[in-house]
Amino acid sequence: MNKIPVLEKELAPTCIQELSDSYGSNHIFMKRDDLVPFSFGGNKARKAAEFYREIRREAPDIVMTYGSNSSNHCRIIANMAAGMGLSCHIISPEENRELLNNTKLVQDFGAVIETCPVTKVAETIEKRQAAYRKAGKTPYFIAGGGHGSCGTEAYVKAFREIEAYERENNLYFDYLFHASGTGTTQAGLVCGSLLSGDEKRKIVGISIAREAERGRNVVKESIREYLGEKFETLYREERLIFTDAYRCGGYGQYTAETVGTIEKVMRREGIPMDTTYVGKAFHGMLAYLADNDIRNKRVLFVHTGGGPLFFDGLEKNVLFSEKTGTPY
Ligand SMILES: *Cc1c(COP(=O)(O)O)cnc(C)c1O
Repeated sequence: MNKIPVLEKELAPTCIQELSDSYGSNHIFMKRDDLVPFSFGGNKARKAAEFYREIRREAPDIVMTYGSNSSNHCRIIANMAAGMGLSCHIISPEENRELLNNTKLVQDFGAVIETCPVTKVAETIEKRQAAYRKAGKTPYFIAGGGHGSCGTEAYVKAFREIEAYERENNLYFDYLFHASGTGTTQAGLVCGSLLSGDEKRKIVGISIAREAERGRNVVKESIREYLGEKFETLYREERLIFTDAYRCGGYGQYTAETVGTIEKVMRREGIPMDTTYVGKAFHGMLAYLADNDIRNKRVLFVHTGGGPLFFDGLEKNVLFSEKTGTPY
C-alpha cells in the first residue's frame, strides 16, 4: 500500500477570509474547505483524510463505498484508493446517472462501478463484501458521503480550527452557515460547538435536498452516535438549526437567483461555487439573513467544495451563459 504524504499528518487548517461588503450589513467570512489539498478539496476530502488513517492501519485490499459515480465523495475515494495503490469498488444507484466531470475522473482512477436499483443498495453492498471475503480479500467500506463518526470527527476538527482563528484574530462568529446534505458536516460542527461549551453561536445547515424533519433527524442521530454518553447532558434541540426553506424543490434544483449569486461571488471575490451545494447554500444563507432580519453580525460560511461541479455548470451553460450574465 502506498502512502499519500499530504494525508499522513493532520491537515493544516484551511484559510478563513473576509468577503467584500456586497452582501448587506452582515460581515461575511468564508472558510475555504474547497482548498483542502487533495483531489479538488471539499468536505469529502476532509472526511477522507480521517478514513485514510484508518485504512493505513487496517491495510485492506479493496476500498468500497456507495454513492453516485458523479459525486464528489466517489471522486475523492476513488482518487485516494488509486493513490494508495488499492482497488476501489463503488456501488452506485442506477437512477439518474449523469455523465459529469466527476464521473470521468472516477472512471479514470480505475474504480469498478457497480450499479443497482436504489432499493437494492444495502443488499448489494452486503453481497459484494461477502464475496470479497470469501475470495480471501479484505474490503474496507466507507458509507455514502463519508457518513459516520469518522466523517463527524473531521468537522469537529474544522470547528476547532474556527475557534483557533477566533482566538488569534480576537473576534467571534455569531453564525456559521453551510450546505447540509447527509448531515455529517453539520453534526461535526455542532458536536465541536457542544463539546467546547460554546453557547451563543448559531450553526445553520441549509438543506440542499432533504425536508426538515428527515434532515434534522439524521443530523441528530449522527450527533448522538458521536457524543455517545455525553449526548444526554450536552445536546439541546435549539443548538441544531436545519432549514429546508431554500432547497428550491429538492436535490439539484436551483433558481435564476442562485445562479446570479454564484456569478456575483465569482466576479467579486474570485471564489467558484456550484449550483447543487455551495452556491445554493450561500444564496440560501443570504435569504435566511434577510428573512430573519439579521443585521450587523459576523457570519462565517463554510465552503464545502465541489470544484468540478463549477466546471460542469460552465460547460452546460448554466453559469456565465449569455442569458444569465446580467450586470448587477
Ligand atoms: C457532500 C457535500 C455537501 C454536504 O455535506 P454533508 O456532510 O453530506 O451534509 C456539501 N457540499 C459539497 C460540495 C458536498 O460535496
